Amino acid sequence: MEPTDRVDPGRAENGDYSIFAGFYYGLRGACIVEFGSQHSTKGGKAVFGPGAYRPDLSEGITTIADLPQPEIVSYSRNDKRNVCPRCGHVAYRDKQSQRTLHDLGNLALWCPRDLVITSSQHDCTKCRKYFNADLSDLAPPGSHYTHRVMDLAVRLVVEDGLPYRPASWHLWRDHRVFVPFATIQHWVEAGGKKGAGAYGHRLPGLGVG
Ligand SMILES: [Zn+2]
Repeated sequence: MEPTDRVDPGRAENGDYSIFAGFYYGLRGACIVEFGSQHSTKGGKAVFGPGAYRPDLSEGITTIADLPQPEIVSYSRNDKRNVCPRCGHVAYRDKQSQRTLHDLGNLALWCPRDLVITSSQHDCTKCRKYFNADLSDLAPPGSHYTHRVMDLAVRLVVEDGLPYRPASWHLWRDHRVFVPFATIQHWVEAGGKKGAGAYGHRLPGLGVG
């Protein structure tokens, strides 16, 4: 299956080269490692060993619209009743809403993965306030990415010393999740302001470079 065959033209509306530019940088700029593959010749034909370098299929793609489409995984946090986090009163569902979170990709299908979560909003008659079903185990409030993606992105920068653009490319190439480099920068800087521990500890002496 060629992932690039499953391109939805409607997605072109989301194509924004300005954020994609950071991603494109990595296509040739970094992360190219040859694992000892030698091009030996047998009878004049080039033969590639098992570790031969083969570029990522998406290498050279310059618009987000051309990336493979995500696998959609449906989640439900849509309970009829839920306990109010303020007062403990059991409140009934008033509405429901949907939220999409970008997760680490599906490496078996070699495509991105989006979690589409249907969640309930409750009306607490005691506090007279609304509250939403708790999704904080999956992602921070307001985030478009899961904790898994954010943690990995920050680790690439803090532990492995990758600059933001190569980190963005690494996330795409090896984990099939597209995160603009400026978003990674924002996460790292936000984590830094909250002090060590917000995204794990920066261990002196263990950093690269
Ligand atoms: Zn309440």
